Amino acid sequence: MDADEFRDRAHQLVDWMADYLRDVESHNVVPNCAPGEIRAKLPTEPPDSPEAFDAIFRDFRSLIVPGMTHWNHPGWFGYFPANNSPPSILAEMLVATLGAQCMSWQTSPAATELEEVTLDWLRQLLGLPETLTGVIQDSASSASLVALLCAREQALQSDRQSLNSLTVYASAEAHASVEKAAKLAGFRSENFRTIPVDGRFALDPKALAEAISEDRRAGRQPACIVATLGTTSSTAIDPLAQIAAIARDVDCYLHVDAAYAGAAALLPECRSMLAGIDSVDSFVFNPHKWLLVNFDCSAHFVRDVDLLLKTMSTAPDYLKTAHDADVKNFRDWGIPLGRRFRALKLWFVLRSYGSRGLRDMLRQHIAWGHRLHGWVDAAANFETMAPSPLGLVCLRWHPRDWAGDNAELDALNLELLRRVNACGDVYLTHTRLAGQVAIRVAIGQRTTNESDVHRVWDTLREQAATL
Ligand SMILES: *Cc1c(COP(=O)(O)O)cnc(C)c1O
Repeated sequence: MDADEFRDRAHQLVDWMADYLRDVESHNVVPNCAPGEIRAKLPTEPPDSPEAFDAIFRDFRSLIVPGMTHWNHPGWFGYFPANNSPPSILAEMLVATLGAQCMSWQTSPAATELEEVTLDWLRQLLGLPETLTGVIQDSASSASLVALLCAREQALQSDRQSLNSLTVYASAEAHASVEKAAKLAGFRSENFRTIPVDGRFALDPKALAEAISEDRRAGRQPACIVATLGTTSSTAIDPLAQIAAIARDVDCYLHVDAAYAGAAALLPECRSMLAGIDSVDSFVFNPHKWLLVNFDCSAHFVRDVDLLLKTMSTAPDYLKTAHDADVKNFRDWGIPLGRRFRALKLWFVLRSYGSRGLRDMLRQHIAWGHRLHGWVDAAANFETMAPSPLGLVCLRWHPRDWAGDNAELDALNLELLRRVNACGDVYLTHTRLAGQVAIRVAIGQRTTNESDVHRVWDTLREQAATL
């Protein structure tokens, strides 16, 4: 493909992209396809001769797009949002064009320095202390793994303890990536403590303190506590200030997983969840969830950079450069060597929307979440299953005169979810809270409007009437 053809094709694709973003609502949110259906339409062997770009692009439209789930759809209420935005998409085009490996300062100085600047902007926007320094990881899961590796390093260096005696604590509602990170970091599975939650699904600090005391009495050493701000099932907010005090008492590493909810700290009215942040060891949140930056972009902040570098760095000759002593080499701040230039899309987004634009969006989503929560509470046949501090509402169908048992109610709610999703213009997912099926309505997609929130509530009520 020569430069002229590249130019023509790029224009053609940008036209398709603009139409897609404008008309995304014309698709069903999730495709209707059976496992293996798409694979069966594709050749089993790679092409021998070069193919025309027209043929490739035609197959993209006819075979691939119909098999995609449309996360940009205004009826997206599943999981958490994975937002993108026009400025972020444009930045990704430039990143692909530059094709740079941003592993060290030397391999693209601007990429490293823009990452330093944009992460410090984020730190200020969220009101995080100056003692935290940011780095972009590919995902919150990776950031949590890095945190647990640092916690392990710290615990092993301070007490000459064996890895077998180190314990890790997280609430019963913590994300599965935390337990996975503990497993990958080599902590024994029987030393991973699942701390009970209170009636609002937040970690019970008294139970945490008790679990830690019991472990210490038995000669085990607490290595890491993971607090969650905004759990995945219900956006419960663990009491960080109390957890931080416990961590300080026993000199234990404290990591905060705020993958989804961290973005809300842009709003002064949501900052109270950060009380206690001054003494945390690391904090992660995902601009790729609720801050309009394409996946992947996870903002990971750490307090003790020396500990991080001690844990993560190696210095083979082939990577040494003349400036190593004076610069950040972000390859030593995470697991993979190779790094994409992810700061560019963050920069484009922060400048295009400004903090004001981002705050307006967050406030709107949260206000709609509160409104939906109120409608559900007021409805005779529905109930909310958890508080809605942010944009997520957990609910279920539960008629006042219900005489059946809980298992039956669970089955009917899963059937309701199936019928709602089959309508095609909204998409919801479920979880279990206190053992019961809850339907999650996660409001946070950039394209969602108030009318879409009305539509999801109407659809839930209409489909419930058919049960
Ligand atoms: C989404 C989520 C994660 C996982 O995020 P990735 O970036 O996909 O790894 C972790 N923790 C919480 C609380 C989440 O909501």
